[in-house]
Amino acid sequence: MASRNLITDTQNTWCPGCGNFSIQFALRDAIKGLVNEGVPLENIVLVTGIGCHAKMADYLDINSFYSIHGRTLPVATGIKLANPELTVLCCAGDGDAYAEGMDHTIFAAKRNTDITLIVHNNRVYGLTTGQYTPTSPLGYRGRSTPKGTVEEPFNPLTLMLASGAGFVARGTSRKLPQLKDLIGKGLRHRGFAFIDVLQICATYFNKSELYDTRGYELAGHDTGDFDAAWRRASEWGYDRDAPIGFGVFYQKERPVFEEHFPAAKPTREKRADGIRMLIDERR
Ligand code: SF4
Repeated sequence: MASRNLITDTQNTWCPGCGNFSIQFALRDAIKGLVNEGVPLENIVLVTGIGCHAKMADYLDINSFYSIHGRTLPVATGIKLANPELTVLCCAGDGDAYAEGMDHTIFAAKRNTDITLIVHNNRVYGLTTGQYTPTSPLGYRGRSTPKGTVEEPFNPLTLMLASGAGFVARGTSRKLPQLKDLIGKGLRHRGFAFIDVLQICATYFNKSELYDTRGYELAGHDTGDFDAAWRRASEWGYDRDAPIGFGVFYQKERPVFEEHFPAAKPTREKRADGIRMLIDERR
């Protein structure tokens, strides 16, 4: 199964140079890693939102659910509650996760649902031709802000730390091997795993140089130290002349949401319960 390419033959319509390609290959390889460890491919489910990123559901040859804008996490939560045996992950855009779906992002972290959220954070609405998003920098000039935005972007990493996320990481589409590693760690983390990916939008917001020159890999960082994670995550607020850390900022396990629901038993147990009930009824 792991020898499968996992890329569909659907015509790819991402722009040349788009960072979505890197994320696709990093995710594909991370999934192959899980399958090589014995996770059945059919037990891995991808949920996408709406936007350029969402075409991942068309291009990756795995079980997937193309949801609606900002609603990847409620759909993923339902899937996970219905069958906790599944490995459930979401690909969402910055518009999905930080605008329309912001409340769902906060509550997934608060509840600690066992889902991995990969945010394709290109800091622009690419599919609709370049409007500003919650992470566009102050002064960004796009279709909806020809004179520049007047809003400061917010920092999703500190928001996730404050909301209780047990796994907080940042990668970039410019560093494929590290991104694959981060996604693999997120998928193996038991609980809500948040990975913000600074993705290149080659057409409307190409920040390759910024991420290449300011980016650094977190090294010697204690991922179990919340205060240290907060300090590192606060270093870069998009507009300041600061280094941009890539890696795992924080990791700590705590009870997951679905454990509190007896109905959300593994499917095998449900089947066994059903058989027991049938036997009891016939006695
Ligand atoms: Fe990628 Fe931007 Fe093109 Fe969308 S508009 S496919 S994000 S380069």
